[in-house]
Amino acid sequence: MRILIMGPPGAGKGTQAARIASFCEIPHISTGDIFRTEIKESSELGKKIKSYLDTGKLVPDEVTVMVIKKRLQQPDCSRGFLLDGFPRTIPQAEALDGILIGLSKNRLDLVINISVDAQVLLERLTGRRVCRNCGDTYHILYQPPQKDEICDRCGGDLYQRSDDTAETVSNRLDVYQRQTAPLLEYYQKRDIVQEVNGELSIDQVFKEIEKVIRSID
Ligand code: ADP
Ligand code: AMP
Repeated sequence: MRILIMGPPGAGKGTQAARIASFCEIPHISTGDIFRTEIKESSELGKKIKSYLDTGKLVPDEVTVMVIKKRLQQPDCSRGFLLDGFPRTIPQAEALDGILIGLSKNRLDLVINISVDAQVLLERLTGRRVCRNCGDTYHILYQPPQKDEICDRCGGDLYQRSDDTAETVSNRLDVYQRQTAPLLEYYQKRDIVQEVNGELSIDQVFKEIEKVIRSID
């Protein structure tokens, strides 16, 4: 199955994507995660894109499209994939259509759109903590680790993303409204968008998503 998970920053895409990927046995492809790894490794690409992530601006389409094209060619994508954070602009969505045709893959089967009120998003993003080692996501109130600042899964240190500050969050929400939200219409025209209420608990949101996936399987 080829799935895209959409929603504003902090909607819970990464949290749900980990569960969906395991449920559907498909790789979770997050452009944000790929970019953060490149920055951590100080690669040429990492150096080029760091300032965009630090300020919450979008990385230029040509760079992002090149990264995703390379990733979708990997053999683990043969049974499908789950995209998280890509596409984020109409030109990226058009490029994705072209990449899938070029790789002889079918179009997306499903777009899951998680909606959450803006005030809730701010609280979620400023309280988010991520494992430096395995990337697992926590929240200081809603999904706290068992031991303060330590990842339950691998024992790694938890850190706060540099773009999860109140100032950058407001820029990211603005970028989402202007550049990414219009994509919903692009996919609604294909009749593949399913809405999920992201304000429920993490488990309840996943139950809703599971129902949607079973209904199209
Ligand atoms: P996104 O990938 O959409 O930016 P995340 O999955 O990283 O969002 O979630 C943002 C923050 O909100 C994380 O700290 C996560 O633990 C928390 N979170 C995710 N889903 C929920 C939920 N349904 N209820 C409460 N907190 C949540
Ligand atoms: P995320 O982890 O999805 O919240 O993304 C973090 C940051 O990575 C964004 O604020 C952008 O700077 C960059 N980014 C991730 N995905 C994309 C994309 N598809 N297009 C452009 N920039 C992206």
